[in-house]
Amino acid sequence: MITFNKPFLTGKETVYIQDAVASGKISGDGIYTKKCHEFLEARYGFKKVLLTTSCTDALEMAAILLNIQPGDEVIMPAYTFVSTANAFVLRGAHIVFADSSPDNPNLNVSTLEALITPHTKAIVPVHYAGAACDMPQLMALAKKYSLWVVEDAAQAIESYCNGQPLGSFGHLAAFSFHETKNIISGEGGALVINDEQFIRRAEIIREKGTNRSEFFRGEVDKYGWVDIGSSFLPSDIIAAFLYAQLGNIDAIQAKRVSLWERYHANLAVPLAAYDVHVPHLPPYATNNAHMFYLVCQDLNQRSELIAYLKERSIQTVFHYLSLEKSPFYAAKHDGRPLPWSDYYADRLVRLPMYYELTLADVDMISREILSFFENTK
Ligand SMILES: *Cc1c(COP(=O)(O)O)cnc(C)c1O
Repeated sequence: MITFNKPFLTGKETVYIQDAVASGKISGDGIYTKKCHEFLEARYGFKKVLLTTSCTDALEMAAILLNIQPGDEVIMPAYTFVSTANAFVLRGAHIVFADSSPDNPNLNVSTLEALITPHTKAIVPVHYAGAACDMPQLMALAKKYSLWVVEDAAQAIESYCNGQPLGSFGHLAAFSFHETKNIISGEGGALVINDEQFIRRAEIIREKGTNRSEFFRGEVDKYGWVDIGSSFLPSDIIAAFLYAQLGNIDAIQAKRVSLWERYHANLAVPLAAYDVHVPHLPPYATNNAHMFYLVCQDLNQRSELIAYLKERSIQTVFHYLSLEKSPFYAAKHDGRPLPWSDYYADRLVRLPMYYELTLADVDMISREILSFFENTK
């Protein structure tokens, strides 16, 4: 059976975990957490990085930092994971869902201006499959209307827009190290702070609303409860795992990109003849090989393809159901149709993609996919 995902271990994870355990400090903000912060800040030029227990938590921190209040409106794509919306709903925000682009699942930036009202506080772009949203255009719009931007960069590590790392455009950004992402720690995430005014408060919110970080740096002589917050920081054991992964990021990325390019070489041209599409990368975006997907002609064809491949021991999976149609949000949605979001919800299917997959596996999967279309024409 070729599974859809398999977490990759570099071999160093348990070595670093043993070291963290032996150091005698395994709560948050230990040696390995600091190493991860420094690595990410140096590699991507982020002003400040704070590891969190998940991307979901990083998004929740962002909503608190921006003082999102009941009645505030937050614009984001409907074609995304629930956490993107839930983090802001927890603060009482009303979510205004934007539609996807015709040529990729990212939000269509040219439709956003019409969604802005005096209540709009923030825009949350999601870089789907690690492919950049049109950030220059989005940031210009945010500036024009004085809106905050939080990048949901959960899938976007090691990906760029016009040469600038994703996660460095927004005032804040959130990454995920969940085991289904490129760089993993089981569960895990990071909040990136690019606007300096948020750094001090972010440290407080992450430490249960206390100024404990300042205390440990010797900046105050006792610490206390100064704000709202929660326990958003991961154990140093998680950070030790993550640091092993970060140390192998170039090898991990090179392998994933080679698999992605092989899928593309095998499938793009032959599938176009069946009006089935492979990922489209805008000219400003790079490919971090987080995901290789197909866009089928309709829901029925996609269901048949998934079943056909399953019979041949290949696991492929669809992705998001548009959030405007979810049981939780349907009645709260303003009723605008979002045809392109629905389009990807019905048609998109993700192919196996992980470090241990071989080019021979990709060739075999590609042959089976082509045989499906040849046989059902
Ligand atoms: C994976 C993912 C998340 C959630 O990440 P966790 O680390 O599991 O909380 C949020 N948004 C998007 C777009 C994701 O792909």
